[in-house]
Amino acid sequence: MTIKDLMQTMDYGPAPESATEALAWIADRPVIGHFINGRFTAPEGETVEVVNPATDAVLTRVGLGTATEVDAAVQAARAAFPKWAALPGHDRARYLYALARHVQKRERFFSVLETLDNGKTIRESRDIDVPLVARHFYHHAGWAELMADDFPGHTALGVCGQIIPWNFPLLMLAWKVAPALAAGNTVVLKPADLTPLTAYAFAEICAEIGLPPGVLNIVNGDGATGALIAGHEGVAKVAFTGSTEVGRVIRRQIAGSGKKLSLELGGKSPFIVFEDADLDAAVEGVVDAIWFNQGEVCCAGSRLLVQEGIAPRFFDRLRKRMETLRGGDPLDKTMDVGALVSRKQLARINGLLAQAEAEGATLHRAPAQMPAQGAFCAPGFLTGTAPAHTVSQTEIFGPIATTLTFRTPDEAITLANDTRYGLAASVWSQNIDRAIEIAAKVKAGVVWINATNIFDAGAPFGGFRESGYGREGGRAGMREYLTAPARPGKPRPDPAPLSGVAPHAGKADRPSIDVTAKLYIGGKQARADGGQSYTVTGKGGVALGQAALANRKDVRNAVEAAGKAGGWGGVTAHNRAQVLYFLAENLSQRAEEFTAALAACGTPKPAEEVAATLRRAFWYAAQADKFDGTVTATKSNHVTLTVNEPFGTMGLIAPDEAPLLGLMSLILPAIAMGNRVVAVASQSHPLLATRLYQVLETSDIPGGVVNLLTGTRDELAKTLAEHDDVAALWYCGSASGVAMVETASAGNLKPVWTDQGLTRDWLDPAQGQGRDFLHRAVQVKTIWLPYGA
Ligand code: NDP
Repeated sequence: MTIKDLMQTMDYGPAPESATEALAWIADRPVIGHFINGRFTAPEGETVEVVNPATDAVLTRVGLGTATEVDAAVQAARAAFPKWAALPGHDRARYLYALARHVQKRERFFSVLETLDNGKTIRESRDIDVPLVARHFYHHAGWAELMADDFPGHTALGVCGQIIPWNFPLLMLAWKVAPALAAGNTVVLKPADLTPLTAYAFAEICAEIGLPPGVLNIVNGDGATGALIAGHEGVAKVAFTGSTEVGRVIRRQIAGSGKKLSLELGGKSPFIVFEDADLDAAVEGVVDAIWFNQGEVCCAGSRLLVQEGIAPRFFDRLRKRMETLRGGDPLDKTMDVGALVSRKQLARINGLLAQAEAEGATLHRAPAQMPAQGAFCAPGFLTGTAPAHTVSQTEIFGPIATTLTFRTPDEAITLANDTRYGLAASVWSQNIDRAIEIAAKVKAGVVWINATNIFDAGAPFGGFRESGYGREGGRAGMREYLTAPARPGKPRPDPAPLSGVAPHAGKADRPSIDVTAKLYIGGKQARADGGQSYTVTGKGGVALGQAALANRKDVRNAVEAAGKAGGWGGVTAHNRAQVLYFLAENLSQRAEEFTAALAACGTPKPAEEVAATLRRAFWYAAQADKFDGTVTATKSNHVTLTVNEPFGTMGLIAPDEAPLLGLMSLILPAIAMGNRVVAVASQSHPLLATRLYQVLETSDIPGGVVNLLTGTRDELAKTLAEHDDVAALWYCGSASGVAMVETASAGNLKPVWTDQGLTRDWLDPAQGQGRDFLHRAVQVKTIWLPYGA
């Protein structure tokens, strides 16, 4: 018998982790209440059971926070905010550092408690969750220290309402709390009612290290408590991780409130295996992608896309590997698979699997004997799943992957992007060209090359599309908890009402030859679909001419044209810069004409506005190849790239003030970063935009990159906000319009940036230009590239 044979025949002995201390801690807390203003308060409302999902044993009870309790927590956080925000960064850093240290000192306790509460294996809570929690607090202690240097002029937002799920209870707390506190915010956090224990123990650590009362408050509860926190008027920012469905509810709930929002939602992430992949490594990758944490991972590689030639071999190896997985008591250190979070989740998964089989898929299940007691779900994968099957599109959130095969890299990309989500992707190929090409083309916020499910506090994490927006971790994550220097601004007056589409008999400033102002779609002037124009009046109510009245159909045409101009995102930044310089050159040749047109509108400083537009074009041309991503220091033997990617098609709603400069201040940064835009010109002064067509036509801007519409601002804005192919929206309109577009954007969860309905002095570069515009024109993609043996 060889050593290999011996190794294969040896059985595992029991290797239980002791739960004595954690169970004693729980026994001392028969009811988990809240942590408000530095005090642990008994719940005043209903309580529900906290269950160990691996044994069905009731561990304790937890309170469901009421409106009074939420209010007390928000008031405490508000009261603590000024002092906490005013502390020197170094002082806040010391607190965060102490939190990191204390988590480390209790790492075994936290790991066991997490495993008891959530059902995840002790191996994962001990080796992944808790170390990452400590790392997160250390990293953000650093940001607190450096805030003044790295984010000059930026300030904290106020009270952050944070709502987290049950799949990584303590880790999600760290991802939310560490950046918020580092930046000088105070927090009201709600853990999931299924898993409140480690957050409560963390609150005890906060008390232990002497964190000032009110800086971190924890209100336990369910969705209703979460809604109370999100809706509280004292909250300045809402950060949510959970399902896309609830993300939408929150988006609508707080629309128009001025609250900043970040959403980390669901995913259906592709795991793409090419025939030149290291197959053994890729099989191990699947273990970490979909069976890690019982598949209860938002970025789980849940759709296996395998190149046709190797598919039978790959699935065969996967099946064999699956046979060796051990499932059972999560406190046993040798287990690979623990329990799901609840029996309810198990029932949901079983329902989806039954549906998959009814739709024609075959389920391959690990033979692992799972305990009869508890919410255990044997790992597996489905073959015969078609893209249209429910399980191919719906997040299973359990240890079961779907599979598809592909022939060519293009087909792999098409399948990978055939989802409404865009959280993560994993690419397996030994061909570096191919792997990087796929990483560039896949629509996902995080891409792992020959790796999966790696996280680090310095590497931004977050989604594209319906996986949400905002990033957690690194510099991009800090930006979510800061606000740029305040700028003055008055509520924007309503635009001139449309004077009607009927002939206008009033005094007119008649040109020598009558000009028909059209729309500009796909590089061509186009008549409005509805065949209507509206009269535009200028200074003194003089009729200046007619502008086309665009409707929903025109918006759709413009979005379609923008969609076809995807090549713009692929040209070099140098080329984009050249086009912007050329645009400035052509505009400068017509400076007098634009100055006169602006004067006719009644603009206060027409010549300055034209000159500022030229300078702005130069500034963004200069930025086109300098607003870079970075290589981030994460783990050893890893290159971690954070790349600024364009959104694709953006909707831009221009302000009424500064009709030329305001419009161009939105278009220039968006196209400099590689986006295509559908821009709605000032409703009151649209004829400036129509003059721009000729400048655009002569400036080598490919057709479809800039599309210009004129008409009723908020009607067009609403259609753009609702449009699924518009990936981001900037809106400079009224306060009520802000609420309208934020609500309408909940469909495909596009990020919406508004100026809260406040005017800007567009002539002032500090207000009308800058890196903030560039940040808003891109989404960060984090690409992980391990190297070495
Ligand atoms: P939810 O999105 O409902 O829960 C996430 C958090 O939001 C919890 O703290 C929850 O409270 C809270 N919440 C629920 N409703 C509201 C509301 N209206 N306003 C504010 N907060 C609210 O996820 P579920 O637990 O219901 O899980 C359902 C599915 O969601 C999973 O099967 C999975 O597909 C997905 N999911 C995705 C996650 C991710 O990380 N992307 C994480 C968790 C789930 P409470 O749980 O206490 O009721």
